Amino acid sequence: MTDMLYYPSNEYQKEFEAKVQGKGKDYVVLDRTLFYPEGGGQPYDTGELKWRDENASVIKVKKKKGEIRHYIDGSLPEPDTVVKGKINWDRRYNHMRMHSAQHIISWIVLNMYNGQTAGNQIHEDYSRIDFEPVEFSSRDVEKIEQASNALIEKELEVKKKEMARELIEKQMTEGRTNLELIPSNIDPLRVVVIADEDVCPCGGTHVDNLKEIGKINIVNRKSKGANVERLEFKLEN
Ligand SMILES: [Zn+2]
Repeated sequence: MTDMLYYPSNEYQKEFEAKVQGKGKDYVVLDRTLFYPEGGGQPYDTGELKWRDENASVIKVKKKKGEIRHYIDGSLPEPDTVVKGKINWDRRYNHMRMHSAQHIISWIVLNMYNGQTAGNQIHEDYSRIDFEPVEFSSRDVEKIEQASNALIEKELEVKKKEMARELIEKQMTEGRTNLELIPSNIDPLRVVVIADEDVCPCGGTHVDNLKEIGKINIVNRKSKGANVERLEFKLEN
């Protein structure tokens, strides 16, 4: 099992050292990593690995068969080689800001419209969230944007920690996420807590303070079927 160095709250470290545990045709598995594998709507990190006088680009990172696979462009380091890893910070930080913004919007929509988050996809430049069962007017979209930005302006700390499943069930607002979709043997779970109210199990990376998100700009609303609405948003610095 690869030690995920960014858990549960070490999301600002950019460089690390690790040992190659195994390799495939075009990937390596490390004993520890800062690279986020694709998951939960958040894209993977990219970056580089260096060892002795060689270096290679990490072009994709995915979880497969219980392994975190770092896909490499070029020659691979051999097992047992000690490598220095560095993540592409601009890309990662944009994902952190976007992912935190997604939590805020999901929380606001749950509170104001009892709309649950049915899915989301984060990108560096824009992101989207699907909600159900809801039907938004353009006035609703304005209200969601305003309430989201008002919360961000409070510049609250975003807490990331491990929490026992039993406690999450007590503290999480009903409908925030479907805990049953997470395998029951995973306990405790990593949670993201905003304003001491929004408790949400999540494995992604997030900022430490809401002020880092900037300003949310909801740029589009689309109906995705009966009572399913998609909101697309961007961030302004
Ligand atoms: Zn998250």
